[in-house]
Amino acid sequence: IVIISFVTFWLISLILSYFLTRLTMRPIITSWKKQSEFVNDAAHELRTPLAIIQGKLEYMFTKPNKTIIDEAESISVSLDEVNRLNSLTNSLLELARADQATTKVSMRLTEPEHFLPDPIKPFKDIIESQNKHFEIDIHEKITLRVDKDKIKQLLIILLDNATKYTPEGGTIKIYDYLDNGKYYFAVSDTGVGISDADKQKIFGRFYRVDKSRTKPTGGNGLGLAIAKQIVGIHHGKIFVKDNHPTGSIFTVELPVRHKQLKS
Ligand code: ADP
Repeated sequence: IVIISFVTFWLISLILSYFLTRLTMRPIITSWKKQSEFVNDAAHELRTPLAIIQGKLEYMFTKPNKTIIDEAESISVSLDEVNRLNSLTNSLLELARADQATTKVSMRLTEPEHFLPDPIKPFKDIIESQNKHFEIDIHEKITLRVDKDKIKQLLIILLDNATKYTPEGGTIKIYDYLDNGKYYFAVSDTGVGISDADKQKIFGRFYRVDKSRTKPTGGNGLGLAIAKQIVGIHHGKIFVKDNHPTGSIFTVELPVRHKQLKS
């Protein structure tokens, strides 16, 4: 009996400790796993442009008698890759700062017409120069507490994507509306659209729907992850749905401070 009770006790404590360890360690293991996945993805993304630059430099080194004009193509490719590295490291720093909560945030009370149209102006010219239509309808009179620079960055990400993934002749719109006392602004496009399976994943770090399609557009798969973080800082929400008949609508919900109709 002593042996049986000892074994039973030992078995029960073993099972209990197994489940306890799983429960308490799970968040640590998950976050460690996520972090190592992130480092792995980041290293992979950094390696590609570095390998291209290294290849080009080594090639140029084997031909010391060539002039800059002869090597213009290699130099231009290397510069493109340096720019890619630059934007990638900036995005990585941005995400790391937000993870460590060291991002400087400067919230101010303001109205949509004072912070939304600002970043749009340069985009209007770019979009129209690519034979695409651009429409803006920001009209809600409401007070919101936002960091203007961060919202600017968020809008640039959404407009940049809308432009990248919309072919010539398409339309990109930015508009705002109130629904059930909540404030929303949206960027819609008539571009390639996003499948239901990809709609949640695209906000993850380094996620790209079609890597071969994204390569010429110069994306690194971090834009929407940063967008999500900016919305999080504002205690808002971001979601994507289909535009009809084609394209996507990215909508941002921002908490309303207090309703204030202008006279
Ligand atoms: P990227 O820098 O690759 O554009 P993002 O994080 O901004 O990275 O976007 C992730 C992926 O989501 C993109 O690679 C693209 O496949 C998809 N995506 C984002 N915006 C749009 C859009 N407006 N239309 C179609 N696909 C989009």
